[in-house]
Amino acid sequence: MRRTADGRVRSVIDLHTHTLFSDGSLTPTEVVELAVREGLRAVAITDHDSIDGLEEALAAGVRLGIEVVPGVELNLEHDQVTMDLLGYFLDRCPGDEMQAALAELRAYRDERNARILERLAGLGVPIEPEELAAIAVDGAAGRPHIGEAMRRRGYVDSISDAFKRYLRRGAPAWVDRRRLSLAQAVRLLRDSGGLPVIAHPGIIRTDRAGLAAVVRDAARHGVVGLECHYPLHDDETVAACRGLCERYGLVATGGSDFHGDVKPDVRLGRADGGRPIADELLEDLRCLAHDRPKGRVNT
Ligand code: AMP
Ligand code: FE
Ligand code: ZN
Repeated sequence: MRRTADGRVRSVIDLHTHTLFSDGSLTPTEVVELAVREGLRAVAITDHDSIDGLEEALAAGVRLGIEVVPGVELNLEHDQVTMDLLGYFLDRCPGDEMQAALAELRAYRDERNARILERLAGLGVPIEPEELAAIAVDGAAGRPHIGEAMRRRGYVDSISDAFKRYLRRGAPAWVDRRRLSLAQAVRLLRDSGGLPVIAHPGIIRTDRAGLAAVVRDAARHGVVGLECHYPLHDDETVAACRGLCERYGLVATGGSDFHGDVKPDVRLGRADGGRPIADELLEDLRCLAHDRPKGRVNT
């Protein structure tokens, strides 16, 4: 437990945040600065398909006296279920293989974004590729950037309005994308020293039995944790996730999925029911980081 300059105890953390390097609205430095203002003890930066913001965030953490956990978030498909994996404590300098794999994932996104823009044009709400590029300047471009472009054109009131009317799964401009398999995503993270954790299990599109099967398979593939604490999880979901952690020997983690203005209702360091995310979750994860075998694991 640490204290702030004015003597307050700092026991709050956040293990899931996005910056301008994917679909967040703040720079890595601004996220770290906000974490300090909110009294957090540690913050993980977990951009989609990009680790390009980590160096800046780590430097800001050193300067401002807050722990920054280097991370990333990857999307995958397993047994027709799509889900996200967070990877923590990545090596300071992940190898070329990691960077090449992430560049390929961003290329998948670009392919998909182009097809979404084609659909939008067909629906009478055109967005030019240049408008998207002007919004997604630093990294992994995705639907929230397209939503923002639509908002700027006045087609929709907000990014979430754009999702609801055009971009969500099943909506008129929905396009699927290529994804990693569970084994590929776990291997990619572990080869770069990352500890894989299932993101927001409560919003995976399956039922309770399906979730248990996904968590079981993930644990067998080398996933070590489950993001039990998340703003969209109710108490029952948190309890179910905690139960799955016990059953499959996983650590519980927590994150807000902070995106800045892109998700204005989300507050850094707060999860289910607005409750602060406790730093003991990070300590449990850290124990695994110290214990983990060096080098590749068999998946
Ligand atoms: P993409 O990576 O292009 O598939 O877009 C996924 C991103 O969109 C994630 O960061 C989600 O948090 C965000 N997202 C998903 N649904 C919505 C929604 N209804 N409103 C705002 N953002 C959303
Ligand atoms: Fe996610
Ligand atoms: Zn996320």
